[in-house]
Amino acid sequence: MNNTIYDVLIIGGGPAGLSTAFICQKNGLSYLVLESGKAVFQGIANTYPQGKLVYASKPKDAPEPFLVEELRPPDKPVTVESYLQYVQHFVQHENLNVQTEVAFEDIREERDGLTVVTSRGNFKGKKVVLSFGSNIPRELSVYGDAKMVAKNVDDPTKYIGVRTLVIGGGNTAADVVIAILKAKREANDIHSVYWAHISEKFDVNKETAQRLGEEILLGGNIRLLPGATPRIGEVDDEGVDRLVIRINEFKQADGIDLYHAMSFPMQNVIACIGSQGPVPIFDKLGIQTIACTSGVCKVAKDGDRLVLLTSEFESTRKGVYVVGGAISPSFMKICEGSIQEERHPNLIYTAVNDAAHVVEAIKKSLGR
Ligand SMILES: Cc1cc2nc3c(=O)[nH]c(=O)nc-3n(C[C@H](O)[C@H](O)[C@H](O)COP(=O)(O)OP(=O)(O)OC[C@H]3O[C@@H](n4cnc5c(N)ncnc54)[C@H](O)[C@@H]3O)c2cc1C
Repeated sequence: MNNTIYDVLIIGGGPAGLSTAFICQKNGLSYLVLESGKAVFQGIANTYPQGKLVYASKPKDAPEPFLVEELRPPDKPVTVESYLQYVQHFVQHENLNVQTEVAFEDIREERDGLTVVTSRGNFKGKKVVLSFGSNIPRELSVYGDAKMVAKNVDDPTKYIGVRTLVIGGGNTAADVVIAILKAKREANDIHSVYWAHISEKFDVNKETAQRLGEEILLGGNIRLLPGATPRIGEVDDEGVDRLVIRINEFKQADGIDLYHAMSFPMQNVIACIGSQGPVPIFDKLGIQTIACTSGVCKVAKDGDRLVLLTSEFESTRKGVYVVGGAISPSFMKICEGSIQEERHPNLIYTAVNDAAHVVEAIKKSLGR
């Protein structure tokens, strides 16, 4: 473990996380951004369609301007690709302290502060800002550990020369299959792409189906595995992490079931099984949420669980703050002894401005 104790550990390098970092830097607070993706703004890179224009939208009744002008999208909208390029330059120019490909897992309380547990070891901070957005990729649920399974593909050529398994039945999984098929075809690689889905039917839109069909007709080597269930994450005799996926099952009259299963090295598996909101993470961290009942909540639906925060965005775990998309479209705010639902539109504006407020609160709390 790195022995540095940062003033602030920031989880997620999107608009909220990078704004928090930038303001910490300007205020002389030590900080580190931990981003699970290959680059900052991975959340936006993953979710915006190609060529989408980015708007500097601001809620009508919001009194404040953008509090981090540097990350404000231009008034004349630019494509997401240009905005991402601009942000990369900004991070380099400002020399922001970011570590990529580090996935946040847990927070532990220690005598000298908070320890953040990640896929790349532990980090220590006095305060933690959770800015991991609202689109958290779903984890495969199997017996054993499947953390090594990728959830996205940045470089499809990585899978040339190996049999690859893509799990998931929707457009995102199909896009991954298409990208890998294309890379393999162009490299004359004969190893198949196996495409598995838990149900019998894949569910992609017409445009994606057309692109997939085209790739298959051009020679893409695909094997479909409908009705396949990922079952076990295990380490084999050679120390390789493998995923066992059951591809069919035969019930026998004598009560003994027969299965067919395949086992892939986890580094050749990509699971695109959708995303989830952050509530399961709040539960894991012991951060309190409140379930909405109709008639009380105006934005959230009956049964939705909203995170409980102070007016300074501190959660019920002391020293742990939550900002940006992770608390949208509304949260429960503790205000002068009462709790009320607070609207929080999921916009770059809100993410950036939350950051400014949270750093102010942290400065005060650290006596700076
Ligand atoms: C299609 C689409 C179009 C949109 N268009 C606009 C627009 O034009 N204008 C506008 O203002 N808003 C727009 N929005 C909303 C805007 O993108 C969000 O409000 C904003 O990105 C929220 O910022 P954030 O930093 O809170 O979260 P995110 O941008 O989601 O960033 C979170 C970051 O945390 C990382 N992360 C997640 N989990 C972990 C983990 N376990 N460990 C470490 N890192 C992690 C992610 O990789 C990501 O980089 C759009 C949203 C979508 C989906």
